[in-house]
Amino acid sequence: MTDRNTHTKVLIVGSGPAGYTAGVYASRAMLEPMLIQGIEPGGQLTTTTEVENWPGDTEVQGPDLMARMEAHARAMGTNIVHDIVTSLDLSKRPFTATCDSGAVVTADAVILATGARAKWLGLPSEEKFKGFGVSACATCDGFFYRGQEIVVVGGGNTAVEEALFLTNFASKVTLVHRRDTLRAEKILQDRLLKNPKIVTLWHHAVEEVVGTTSPLGVEAVRVKHVETGEITEIPAKGLFIAIGHAPASELVKDQLETHNGGYVKVEPGTTRTAIPGVFAAGDLTDHIYRQAVTSAGMGCMAALDAERFLAEHGEAEREDVTLPLGYGAEAPAE
Ligand code: NAP
Repeated sequence: MTDRNTHTKVLIVGSGPAGYTAGVYASRAMLEPMLIQGIEPGGQLTTTTEVENWPGDTEVQGPDLMARMEAHARAMGTNIVHDIVTSLDLSKRPFTATCDSGAVVTADAVILATGARAKWLGLPSEEKFKGFGVSACATCDGFFYRGQEIVVVGGGNTAVEEALFLTNFASKVTLVHRRDTLRAEKILQDRLLKNPKIVTLWHHAVEEVVGTTSPLGVEAVRVKHVETGEITEIPAKGLFIAIGHAPASELVKDQLETHNGGYVKVEPGTTRTAIPGVFAAGDLTDHIYRQAVTSAGMGCMAALDAERFLAEHGEAEREDVTLPLGYGAEAPAE
């Protein structure tokens, strides 16, 4: 045991809209929740720019929205901890989380809100140039491509938003999509098609990223027509991959049932998993809607489900826990 053991009634794992909303509701239920933020505090919305579908805000920057959610959860009393849960034992109550810092947290109930993360194409050349011209985050890396030509791959909201955002820097953006229909919302499609800096290349898949080794850098993206097999090389200094997201379920994949490629299964209409006292919310469990507002809604449900569970089952019996040791009690970052 480390000397940083602590116990909480409700442990929330993850800091996207689901996690912070669960924090707000669980705090207001006087459950004194602890929320462990994970590797990317604020989650996917911190790597986006304008959000135009968060109710109440005609337009808000993703990182600002997440900073507000964090501040809200903290103001309600959530103990927000900047750490990463590296393993989670759900085999008995209290459940036990071990963190990157060495801290061990036991909890009477757990709300899993670890979200989803960007998918990659899986090409060896993509791997080679990751961080050297290949990126999955336009907001993080777009600035480096001032006056350059860029390729974006994908046909969903993320790809279209990234392509539009990158026109702030790039001289030309080519959107490569494997079909000739986009999944992105119509309003985004209109903006894309009207943007003079963006060219769309339908029915194409990325074959290889071409570049120099010393120094490492991208020079072109080789694409193939999915029907004719014809190969084209698009000159580009950057390739942005925007082909969707996969649930971050590694922590629990051997303990909870998953479906549709790793999404944690919950009882329909609730956030209850197959383990009593363990709840799942947000993109980790939702392969259909995947919106900030639906994640937040599920975070609320998870806190209410956890509150009900604890009212019925009470605290778990436990031994050998030192309370409190100030874990995560640092002053909030402004
Ligand atoms: P998505 O909607 O799942 O779209 C992924 C796109 O990538 C699809 O067009 C897909 O092609 C393509 N794709 C998938 N695998 C591929 C591969 N191996 N090679 C080439 N292309 C591939 O993912 P997303 O755009 O990341 O969005 C995820 C969710 O977040 C969605 O529900 C979206 O609405 C939401 N979101 C919302 C906003 C917003 O509201 N502002 C912003 C971003 C994301 P096919 O179309 O052929 O399948």
